Amino acid sequence: DLSGQAAVITGSTSGIGLALARALAANGANVMLNGLGDAGEIEKTRKSIETEFGVKAAYNGANMLDSGEIESLIADTVKTFGRLDILINNAGIQRVAPVEELAPETWDAIVAINLTSCFHTTRHAVPVMRKAGRGRIVNIASAHGLVASPFKSAYVAAKHGVIGLTKTVALEVAEAGITCNAICPGYVRTPLVESQIADTAKARGISEEEVVRDVMLSAQPTKKFVEYDHLTGLLLYLVSDSGASANGAAYPVEGGWVAA
Ligand code: NAD
Repeated sequence: DLSGQAAVITGSTSGIGLALARALAANGANVMLNGLGDAGEIEKTRKSIETEFGVKAAYNGANMLDSGEIESLIADTVKTFGRLDILINNAGIQRVAPVEELAPETWDAIVAINLTSCFHTTRHAVPVMRKAGRGRIVNIASAHGLVASPFKSAYVAAKHGVIGLTKTVALEVAEAGITCNAICPGYVRTPLVESQIADTAKARGISEEEVVRDVMLSAQPTKKFVEYDHLTGLLLYLVSDSGASANGAAYPVEGGWVAA
């Protein structure tokens, strides 16, 4: 039961982040949503979480490319809910290209949004959690934080970096009642993956059906996409009191991909 707790979830206007925010709200947490998108759609999402789960849901549109806006996101969460118990670093982007064709600006954006933003949210959240004597940080890395695939140099590097950050922060906060862990999903059929199917088809010169069958799900032994529910169960464990000894770990939820 997370009643009364406050959570901030970056990149929660869509896909995995939204599913995680809804799961936290379903268990009683007040949630600060964040992410890009159409203002009207986001307001609908915010409202529906409040009515469906009877919690408070707020929205802050901080761009994860901007350290100042990230600082405001954390400050706004503390101001709105009077506390900050749970930080979920989920915002991410993905582009597929051979390393020699990847534009340097694309590399910078992928590293900034997927990795550096986690550093900024964490450095502002940790002092608040230290003061409270408790906190939970969960970073949404990827199976690509543990293993590589071709044409994803920036993404794989950033996600490996997220796991390195996770381990380091975990060691620093371990005695303060705070934990920091990473979840490493395999392929989930989100808007991010839909656009990646098209990009990969182009990069490899194959059809979109072949990308799903021969590229994405070929690496995933279950041959099925990971469902949102498979991620939320682990998240709820990690943020609970039972999760107190789980620290600095990177949990694969990828149908056995990294076992291969
Ligand atoms: P998505 O595109 O559906 O959602 C991404 C979210 O991040 C959106 O809310 C978007 O608005 C937000 N975002 C993007 N750029 C932003 C920015 N500059 N500032 C603030 N918010 C920004 O993607 P998703 O598939 O749900 O991915 C969520 C996370 O899960 C990412 O970190 C991704 O790398 C990771 N992941 C996804 C999969 C998958 O198969 N979908 C697998 C492993 C890991």
